[in-house]
Amino acid sequence: MYDNDISDVVAADKAHVWHHLTQHKPFETSDPRVIVEGKGIHVWDAKGTRYLDAVSGGVWTVNVGYGRESIADAVREQLVKLNYFAGSAGSIPGALFSEKLIEKMPGLSRVYYCNSGSEANEKAFKMVRQIAHKRYGGKKTKILFRERDYHGTTIAALSACGQPERHMQYGPLTPGFVEVPHCLEYRKQWDVENYGERAADAIEEVILREGPDTVGAICLEPVTAGGGVIVPPKGYWERVQEICKKYDVLLHIDEVVCGVGRTGTWFGYQHYGIKPDFVTMAKGVASGYAAIACCVTTEEVFNLFKDDAEDPLNYFRDISTFGGCTAGPAAALENLAIIEREGLLENTTAMGDYCLEKLEELKDKHAVVGDVRGKGLFLGTELVADRGTKEPVAEKLAQKVVAECGAQGVMIGVTNRSLPGFNNTLCLSPALIATKDNIDEIV
Ligand code: PLP
Repeated sequence: MYDNDISDVVAADKAHVWHHLTQHKPFETSDPRVIVEGKGIHVWDAKGTRYLDAVSGGVWTVNVGYGRESIADAVREQLVKLNYFAGSAGSIPGALFSEKLIEKMPGLSRVYYCNSGSEANEKAFKMVRQIAHKRYGGKKTKILFRERDYHGTTIAALSACGQPERHMQYGPLTPGFVEVPHCLEYRKQWDVENYGERAADAIEEVILREGPDTVGAICLEPVTAGGGVIVPPKGYWERVQEICKKYDVLLHIDEVVCGVGRTGTWFGYQHYGIKPDFVTMAKGVASGYAAIACCVTTEEVFNLFKDDAEDPLNYFRDISTFGGCTAGPAAALENLAIIEREGLLENTTAMGDYCLEKLEELKDKHAVVGDVRGKGLFLGTELVADRGTKEPVAEKLAQKVVAECGAQGVMIGVTNRSLPGFNNTLCLSPALIATKDNIDEIV
């Protein structure tokens, strides 16, 4: 496809590309990693080294694996027919994908297209704010978020971020976002039996402190990703739902990582029988074959923007230039079809359980393994210097494990890198096509 010499490509990268999440100083004496090919669960770098990718493209994205010709064909066909039209017009793949998606999300009915997880979350934030202005006279504009959760890289999304290292040098942040405590039982904040309920009660305490008439919504990850792969304890979600109902607080579930199969159900929230008002998604929607993100909501929310047509301001005054690109929903439609055709939700549950079992066995072999947790093919292994005190391992140790895995041909991830108190959790999220052999190799 490109006839450049690969060493020239690497040189061009080194000279001109500013990589995400990267300190570039080491590239003065080494080359950046350039990935050139992917097939199934494997990728190859510019040097021809093959890796088992246990992080689905680095950030939990390539759910159906690499090299899917049927997705490429669907995108090509669509692009040749109509690549783009934006504004108030719809498109064939946009309509068909939204219909298919909504079939998987009982209780929700409207899909708003955009380009990234951050943007999808900000769409929901804007809808919440507009509802506050329209319905509550400018009150109920506050949005709660949880310690350790992450909702994106734009300034408002960062203002709703429970990982200080992500935003500490990017202030001033946007006002109106308020943090509630995390719910990781391994790092207990309350010594009680019903930990899940207690952690959820902490949300009620914040609502009461802020004033229920000021709080419009709460945004939560169903299973926290970058904050340490945190599966909320039993009883948590039921209580969260009750609290939202009690105080008329809209429930926004950020499925940017968990969405579209990662945890073994279509969406992470579906493990818990909760009824969200907003669900946002991005990464796995088209498995990285095209940029697409969605903010999905209920007919009830939608109607607040539809009714009262006499009011010239009563519609969602928002646009996303590339939210109208047809490649996204065309890829997403085929992505969903693959997951159904190949039974990937079932495989995710089976392989996730198997992986969790194997990771648990590591506890017997390595004192450094403090906690193992996850749902489906979304797993975390928290490393500690001392199991009794749960003191985190030195940051460099987790990095060393990641580097050693890489040297042995397996790419894994690590969360919570650089702040004391934010612990070192190794992260696994292979494609949903993973086999037992793949899991064995990763573990
Ligand atoms: N929400 C969660 C839970 C995420 O993990 C991420 C990214 O990792 C985002 C939102 C932001 O998505 P994006 O990077 O597509 O803007």
